Amino acid sequence: MENFATSSDADYMSGQIIGRVAKYADKYNKNKLEVGMSLPGIVDYALGKVLYIPYFKWRDWDIGRQIERQTGLAVTMDNDANAIALAELWFGEEKIRKIKNFITVLVAEGVGTGIVFDGQVYRGEKGAAGEFGHMIVGENAPVLCSCGSRNCWEAHSSEKAIAARYRNLLNGDFSGSNNINIDQIINLAVNGDEQAIFVLKETAKFLGIGISNLIVGFSPQAVVVSGRITKAWHLIAEEVHSVVEHSIRRRLPMTVIKASSLGENPTIIGSLSLVLARIFASAS
Ligand SMILES: [Zn+2]
Repeated sequence: MENFATSSDADYMSGQIIGRVAKYADKYNKNKLEVGMSLPGIVDYALGKVLYIPYFKWRDWDIGRQIERQTGLAVTMDNDANAIALAELWFGEEKIRKIKNFITVLVAEGVGTGIVFDGQVYRGEKGAAGEFGHMIVGENAPVLCSCGSRNCWEAHSSEKAIAARYRNLLNGDFSGSNNINIDQIINLAVNGDEQAIFVLKETAKFLGIGISNLIVGFSPQAVVVSGRITKAWHLIAEEVHSVVEHSIRRRLPMTVIKASSLGENPTIIGSLSLVLARIFASAS
């Protein structure tokens, strides 16, 4: 796997991505290569266009066409949470692959959801469905949402919220804590650090509130959580379940809430699933 630093300069990022894709295209048999892209924003899956990346405030990023023009490879793209929902259908654990209605929740820089309805990813008009990261779950979140509000689910439950809670808790009396990243906080929690565990549990409460709302609205058979936070699922599962049980009063069919089995890089498996689904659809 190859990593490179992200930049807020869209043209620079396009160049970085195209350069790497071109390298693969030269190295391997072009006829057997396709590109799958999973992106943190609103993506028109049918047209293969990125409409909006909130983190960088990019609109109409034409990366798909640019890759196709410059490398000759076909590109399939989707929103990251939708790509993960597809990955759960292709590569998830058997129990999830077999059910028809479930929701994936991706906790990352933001919070995204993918809706699987009757065995298909539900994308809505122009791929904009599933933007539940902006539903209001409470006031005064520790960070601003990418939309600028402090009341959104994302502002309370994202990795940014976790990091901000941890920094606030330590209140600056721990040298280097301002630069602490999400992996370090999760590792601290897994290794028994009480403050890190407290911060994850606090975040899990808000994660649970949002999941309750999704369950009330969709009555899915399962909600599957993915992202780095799932490494500490054993520390937060009880908190999530307890919030959901307390907030859903009426008797609903039991919804299973579990951590994804896709591991630490679900979006990569999501990108692969996009390509497989495209090939499968064109062959049938
Ligand atoms: Zn928002």
